[in-house]
Amino acid sequence: MFTGPIDMPLRAKSDGGGHPGDGKRASMDRSLPTTRGESMSSLTLLSRSRSDRHLSRALTLLLLVGAAAASVSPSPASAQAPTQTAPRASPQESRGPGFVNYDVRLTADDTGGSWHGGMSVRFVNTTGVVLDTIWLRLWGNGEDGCAAPAVRVTRLSGGTAGDPAVGCTALPVRMAHPLRPGQPALVRFDLHIAVPDRDARFGHNGPYYLLGHALPVLAVHDGKGWHLDSYSTGGESNFSLTADWTVRLDHPRALAIPATGSAVARPARPGRTLTTIAAKRVRDFAFAAGPFGKREALTRHGVLVRLWFADDVSAAEVDDTLSGAVEYMDTFAGWFGRYPYPEVDLVSSHFDWGSMEYPTYVATYPARTAVAHELAHQWWYGLVGNDQYADPWLDEAIAEYAKQRATGDENPLCADPFWPSPDAKVTSGMDYFNANGGYSLVVYLLGSCLMHDLERTMGPDRWLAFLRDYATAHRYGVSTPVAFRAEAQAASPVDLAPVFHRWRAS
Ligand SMILES: [Zn+2]
Repeated sequence: MFTGPIDMPLRAKSDGGGHPGDGKRASMDRSLPTTRGESMSSLTLLSRSRSDRHLSRALTLLLLVGAAAASVSPSPASAQAPTQTAPRASPQESRGPGFVNYDVRLTADDTGGSWHGGMSVRFVNTTGVVLDTIWLRLWGNGEDGCAAPAVRVTRLSGGTAGDPAVGCTALPVRMAHPLRPGQPALVRFDLHIAVPDRDARFGHNGPYYLLGHALPVLAVHDGKGWHLDSYSTGGESNFSLTADWTVRLDHPRALAIPATGSAVARPARPGRTLTTIAAKRVRDFAFAAGPFGKREALTRHGVLVRLWFADDVSAAEVDDTLSGAVEYMDTFAGWFGRYPYPEVDLVSSHFDWGSMEYPTYVATYPARTAVAHELAHQWWYGLVGNDQYADPWLDEAIAEYAKQRATGDENPLCADPFWPSPDAKVTSGMDYFNANGGYSLVVYLLGSCLMHDLERTMGPDRWLAFLRDYATAHRYGVSTPVAFRAEAQAASPVDLAPVFHRWRAS
């Protein structure tokens, strides 16, 4: 997620104020992260970032970006879809369920705001222990909870649904028979989705409906048991493993359907379209519905970039967002390794709430900083997963660092750190930040300083080689703090302990 904590003054300066919506985008409200207690920190950041003293550093970063981009050699995207393989974890850390196939069939009402149908979940018990119960996460209920559940599961077969838990974001399914390690299973249910009436990542703005985290996913079980953490409004609590998805959506012909994966649309009954979407080895599935405009472009690496835009996005913003997306996809492929999917979709509007990453799909406001941050998540969160509740820094700090490196956006905190409290750490979890605030300041900004410091300490070439190797080794898997620190150290001739200590990431 990205709420733009420090880029507002710089962007207002560079944009020249010529685009519709600039006033709204540069407003203070817009820049304030939604996690409780962050207002003061953000104001501090805003006042600090008005200084020009770091412009030379920003220019240096821009030159670095140019040099890195120039070193990327074009190669065609693989025509082969990623295929599922056995998890990499050792037996005592085995995560699961694995080899998951989600099959979803939904029919929309006339607006795209209400969807009904069915879903099946095939999986294998890869956890190494007997499971008598599995858990589904219904993250779409995170905001409104059990009072007004936006996502409902009914008529479940293949097990017995228990009482919803964790604010109706978790549904236990007791299996008909205990599931032995290696045993496959199938659960089916009817699914009902009512998109909440708010401008949000799961919500709508007029006729544009966003269905982020609307589809149920399996919870993760590992050596710590089931991960059943609570929803975080100002960040992410999600933790899921890669899976194959087939999603069939019956919807009004007037609605475009941006989505994770690759879609094929064909006419259905009068006035309706049946869109079938396949997505291989992705850890979540998001889509949108609305009268979006569409533009496409191809990256130098052969990835199709689709930009879907609402009617509040100007023609100049469409051009800038699309060209930025193409540039950053190539830049990040050069830094972090090949993007293995055939396409990436961007849904753009002047969202009040920020922007948000999903596998092969982002919802973003039309600004290059937001686009760069969310596309960096395609590697950090999308390809290389992490427990976003326990270790949000493993994706957010790197995505923010990558954004700053790619756009030249300055981060004045790196030279002049400000910590909101003595116990705040870059490596703190959402439990800490939900209670104490400081999430964007600590994880995004100070966390990105950790990455800049590691780059400076290891040297840019060695650092980028490490990130590329790490992203390759953990592709489709899960990154952990222990693995990140150990593998960075193994790639460095210099002791990195002081760097991790300096940025409270030991
Ligand atoms: Zn983010």
